[in-house]
Amino acid sequence: MKILLKNGRIYDPRSGENRKADIAICNGIIHSIGKAIYDADEILDCCDKWIVPSVTDMHVHCFHKRTNLGLYADKIGICNNVRNLVDAGSCGADDIDDFMDDLSEMKTRVKIFINYSSIGLTKNSCELSENCWLDEDKLMKAIKKYPDVICGVKLRASKSVVKDKGTEPIRSGIQFAHRLHLPLMIHVGNEPPKLDEVLSLVEKGDILTHIYHGKKGGLFLENGELNKLAIKKYQKGVLFDVGHGSASFSFDVAEKAFKLGLIPHLISSDLHANNYPDKISSLAEIVTKIYNLGLNERQILDAISIRPAKILHLDNMIQVGNKADLSIVSFNKTDKKRYVDAEGNERIFDKQVVFERLVGSEVENHGLY
Ligand SMILES: [Zn+2]
Repeated sequence: MKILLKNGRIYDPRSGENRKADIAICNGIIHSIGKAIYDADEILDCCDKWIVPSVTDMHVHCFHKRTNLGLYADKIGICNNVRNLVDAGSCGADDIDDFMDDLSEMKTRVKIFINYSSIGLTKNSCELSENCWLDEDKLMKAIKKYPDVICGVKLRASKSVVKDKGTEPIRSGIQFAHRLHLPLMIHVGNEPPKLDEVLSLVEKGDILTHIYHGKKGGLFLENGELNKLAIKKYQKGVLFDVGHGSASFSFDVAEKAFKLGLIPHLISSDLHANNYPDKISSLAEIVTKIYNLGLNERQILDAISIRPAKILHLDNMIQVGNKADLSIVSFNKTDKKRYVDAEGNERIFDKQVVFERLVGSEVENHGLY
C-alpha cells in the first residue's frame, strides 16, 4: 500500500521538518519527504493543510468500566481523528489491571497519568482526603508494572478532593512525582489549596490543568491583576494546560491571559461522560476556541502535537524510515458560529480547526479508513 501526501505543510521541530513538501508512505513507513515521483495507490491533496505528528488530547476520562465519568476511548479518540489520549487520573493503583484490560480493546493509543490516590475516581470525588488511599508503595508497583502506558501522575488540588487535609496530600504527591522524575498534572480549581500554594510547589515541566478557569482564586486577583507567582512559574517552564471541561474554562480569563503572554502550552478537552456530547463534543471544538482567541497555527500545533509527543515520548517523529503516525490538520475560515465557554458566556467565531484525517499503518490496519 502506497500513500502520497501531496503538497502539505510539514511541521515537526523534533526532526527539523518545517517546509512544504510531499510525503510518500510505503507500507506504513515514511519512504521519502520532498518532491515525490511515486506511483501511489492513494493520493491525498494536502495543499494548505498541515501534516504533523499524530494529535494528542492530554486530558480526558476514559475508564468507562469502573468510573461514572468514563467514556469509550475510541469514541473521543480515533473516531474524532485524535490518535492519542491521556487519561488524567481516572484510575489509581487499585484498579490499574482492570483499566489496562479495558484499554486493550481500544484502537486509540491511550496513555495514563495515574491518580496519586489508589482509588482514583472510582468511588467518590474526595480521593485525597484519607491517608489509607495514599499508598506510595502500591503506586510505585503499578508504575513499574506498566512503564510504557503510565506516563505521569495526576493530582486534584481542590477543596472537594482534599477536604480537611489541606495542601498536605498535594505536597506529598508533587514530591513523589518529582522523586521519580515523572510528568505531573495538577488540577487547579476551588480553593483550598490556594493557587499560590500550588504554584509555590511546582517546577519546570509540571502541568497545571484548568488554569484558565473562571472561579474565584484563579489566574487573576480580585483587583484584576494577574497573579505574579503564576507569571514567574510560567517563565520558569511550568506548563499551562486548558483542560476545558464543563466548569473550567472562561473566555474572558483566557483572552486576558493570552494578551499578557500566558498562552497555553497544551490544549486539552477534559471530555468525560458528564460533559460529552452536550457541553463539549471534541478536542477540535476546544482547539477552535483557542485558535479564535488569538494563537497562531504553529502555537496550536505545538500544543496538540509536538509538546504532548515530547512529554509522552511518542514514537511519531516525521522522518524518513520511521513509521507514519500523522495527523492532517486544517485551519479554515467558516460562517459565523456560536461557541459557549464553561461559564455560559458566548462568543461568535468564524474560524475553525479541523482534524482532517489520521495517516499511519496502525490506524489503517484497523480498517477505519
Ligand atoms: Zn479531568
